[in-house]
Amino acid sequence: MTATGHAVIGTVIAAKVGNPALAIPLALASHIAADFIPHWDTGTNREKKGLQRVLFETIFDVLLSFALSYGLLVFLFPKTEPLYAFLIILASQSFDWLMAPYYFFGIKAFKWAYDLQKLFDNKLDKPWGIINQVGILALLILAALLF
Ligand SMILES: [Zn+2]
Repeated sequence: MTATGHAVIGTVIAAKVGNPALAIPLALASHIAADFIPHWDTGTNREKKGLQRVLFETIFDVLLSFALSYGLLVFLFPKTEPLYAFLIILASQSFDWLMAPYYFFGIKAFKWAYDLQKLFDNKLDKPWGIINQVGILALLILAALLF
């Protein structure tokens, strides 16, 4: 999933689960569950796009992930502590953060995170790999507001 998608899930977890001892494991598990669903992300078609474009799109994705989460906190979940939400968002994205040093810069110490993600990461190209993400996230936000 995109960093933005993982961040939205993290925001919802932070809004609904106030106990970090529960929210952090839940955030980690959500990363695996979200990546298991076939999806598009900035690394899709890496060979065709080239690493530089992947890096550029990923930076944009990460910035968008924080901006959108902030918007959700302000407008939909104002009772959630922003710093707490930020921690849970980072936990939701953590596998991708851990793999990034290897993925972008070839730092071997982080290869395990890349190999680990390959076990559960399923790709689906645009447009459906984006449309299904937006649909799932919209339903998740709606459920969080209703229950
Ligand atoms: Zn991932």
